Amino acid sequence: MDLTYINGQTRLLALLGHPAHHSISPKMHTQAAKLLGLDYVYLAFDIAPDEIGQAVMSLKLMEARGFNLTMPFKRTVIPYLDHLTKAAKLAGAVNTVINDNGILTGDTTDGYGYMESLRQTGFDPKDKVMTILGAGGAATAIIAQAALDGMKEIRIFKRKNQTFEDTLAFAEKVTGGTDCQVTVLDMADRQALATSIASSDLLTNATNVGMGDDDRSLVDKDMLRRDLVVSDIIYEPPLTPLLAMAKDLGCSYFNGADMLLYQGSASFKAWTGQDMPVKEIQRTCFS
Ligand code: NAP
Repeated sequence: MDLTYINGQTRLLALLGHPAHHSISPKMHTQAAKLLGLDYVYLAFDIAPDEIGQAVMSLKLMEARGFNLTMPFKRTVIPYLDHLTKAAKLAGAVNTVINDNGILTGDTTDGYGYMESLRQTGFDPKDKVMTILGAGGAATAIIAQAALDGMKEIRIFKRKNQTFEDTLAFAEKVTGGTDCQVTVLDMADRQALATSIASSDLLTNATNVGMGDDDRSLVDKDMLRRDLVVSDIIYEPPLTPLLAMAKDLGCSYFNGADMLLYQGSASFKAWTGQDMPVKEIQRTCFS
């Protein structure tokens, strides 16, 4: 490990999460900085959930240029920031903080990351219809950005639990703030799900279902069709049961690896003003 470039001027970039040490972000950002000859180092910190405010103040005190947030801090960090970008306000979540001389601006690049990975497949979101499964931190960032990018209609399917009302309020906020119509439906209504997918251009799984012990699909194979674009924001495993069905049917499909890459590239640009060398980072960090 070559750390000889670190010197008295090197600025800190960081990830705050719980857990945090599994993340690929330190490798991705430090390598990108090194490739471009920029004087930054990126470290991951595992922070107790009730100590997020102290962690943010510490990074500010140490003049970190910026930091990322992952679970469970994407919403709880907001009270400690000075400003939010339009996308972060709409999503109600922050994954990137930029420190401009002690003024902290919160942004969300998760939605941009997803939309960029979608555009890389040749999909133009303008006037399209999307069915999305889940309404957690990643889903809301994607929905907000997709609406800002000109999607015509987004139908959210989620469980009818204690956060259903919050999701209804979120959908109303996005519908009111953009030209996109966002609705929320009960995931248990299989007929509504099938009907929605049948009239959608894009299906996105933004839940945890399909990874770890929960390796199943929330939709049935007969709900898919060949000209539907199918995506899963899970990147490990690379081929979730949903994507395996899409592959079998000959659909265009993609996983969450490029979302991760492009959300990182947008954070990197916000901190350094430079474009991340994404092809090089894709080759060294994602293959
Ligand atoms: P989160 O805020 O905890 O949200 C999880 C969502 O999944 C919630 O909407 C939840 O439903 C839903 N869900 C969980 N278990 C379910 C089940 N059994 N049936 C139906 N719905 C279920 O998590 P998150 O941060 O949004 O992350 C979600 C997934 O995206 C994770 O797998 C994460 O690894 C991945 N992710 C990928 C990237 C990337 O860059 N590729 C970035 C962020 C996250 P309820 O709302 O009904 O509770």
